[in-house]
Amino acid sequence: MPGVNVLQTSHFHESKAVGGPVDQPAFLNGACLLETDLPPRELLGTLQAVENTLERQRDVHWGPRTIDLDLLLYDALQLDHDDLTVPHPRMTTRRFVLEPCVEIAPDFLHPSTGCSLRDLLDNISRPHRRIAICGVPGTGTGEVASAVADATVGHAFHGSIPLARALAQPDPHKRLELSLAAAECWHSQLPPESNDNEWQTNVSDYWLGSLATLNQETIDTAPCDLGKRLQKRIASCPAPHVLIVLRVSADALDERIRFCRGPFAGGSDIFADLEACLTSSPVEDINDSSWREQLLAAQERLLAAVGSAPRVPAWLPIPKGVVLIDADDLGDATHHALAAVEAMA
Ligand code: ATP
Ligand code: CA
Ligand code: CA
Repeated sequence: MPGVNVLQTSHFHESKAVGGPVDQPAFLNGACLLETDLPPRELLGTLQAVENTLERQRDVHWGPRTIDLDLLLYDALQLDHDDLTVPHPRMTTRRFVLEPCVEIAPDFLHPSTGCSLRDLLDNISRPHRRIAICGVPGTGTGEVASAVADATVGHAFHGSIPLARALAQPDPHKRLELSLAAAECWHSQLPPESNDNEWQTNVSDYWLGSLATLNQETIDTAPCDLGKRLQKRIASCPAPHVLIVLRVSADALDERIRFCRGPFAGGSDIFADLEACLTSSPVEDINDSSWREQLLAAQERLLAAVGSAPRVPAWLPIPKGVVLIDADDLGDATHHALAAVEAMA
C-alpha cells in the first residue's frame, strides 16, 4: 500500500482459536514491522481496506475470518479513540500476539507497561504451579480447587476438613493440637518445592496460613512447644504462587449451615468441611447463629492476614499473587478463579 513499507515479517504461528465460537478452526498469526508516513488512524484505514479486499466479513465476534489486521503498537504512542486504541488493549495477555512480535521486535518497548515485548511474553509464560484456594468452612474451596485443577490439567489436593475440625474446637490447646496435626498432614501431602520444574500444577483447597490465623492468640502463649512447632511448620512451607481467598456473606453462610442441617446433607460433599465443623464440636447445642459469627470472625482474621500491612503474623509466607473472590455464588466464584488463573498462567 502507498505510504507503507514492510521492514520485517514473522513466520506464521498456528494457534488454537481463543475466545469466540467453540470448535472453530485454528488461526495463523503473524506480525509485521512497518515504516510509514501515515498517521495512526489512516494506517488503520489502510489495514481495513486490505481486510475488505480480502472479503473480511464481520458477522461473528472473534469468529473465523479470512484475515484480521490489528494495529498493535505505533512507536511509543498511546491513544484511546472510539475506533482506535493503541497499544492494542488485549495484546499483553495474548500469547498468539506476543510470540510473533517477539520474533521480529523483542526489545520494542510497550509504552503503557514499560516492558519489552520479550518481557511481556516471559511474564505470561512464567509458571504458577502452586495455587492455594482458601476460605473458612462453607466457602466451597474444594469445589473451586477441583475446577481450577481440571482447567490447568493439574492435581487437586483436598484437605479442608482438618481445618474445619480445628476450628470447631473451643479449647485453644486442643485446637492447636488439631492444627498441628493438620499442618503435618498437609505438609506431607504437597510435593516439595524442588518439584516445581515439573509441569503439573498443584491446586490445594487449603492454605497453611489459615492455621496460623486460626491459632493467632495461642501460638506464642502455648504452655508447651506446640505453638513453636506449628509456627515452624507453617513458616518453612513455601508460599503458594497464587492464593485465591474465597469470601462469603453472613446470609450465604446461614443458608449453607441450614443446608448442612437438612435432609440432603451428606449427599453432596461441596460443604463437607462445614458439615465436619458443625458436627465435630465437643460442645452440645451451639446455635447456628453463633456458628455463623464464629466463622465470620475466622474469615475476618484470614482476610486481615492476607490483606494487611504489616502482615499478621509477620512470619507468615504470603504469595505475591492474592486474589479475593466473593463466593456467595459458587458458579461465579469458580468462573472468576479460572479467569484469574488463566490471566496469570
Ligand atoms: P480484538 O480487537 O479483540 O483482536 P477483533 O480484531 O476480532 O478483536 P474487530 O472486529 O476486527 O475485532 O475490530 C473491531 C473494531 O476495533 C474495529 O472496527 C476497530 O475500529 C477497533 N479497533 C480499536 N483499536 C484497534 C486497533 N489497535 N487495531 C485494530 N482495530 C482496532
Ligand atoms: Ca484481532
Ligand atoms: Ca481487528
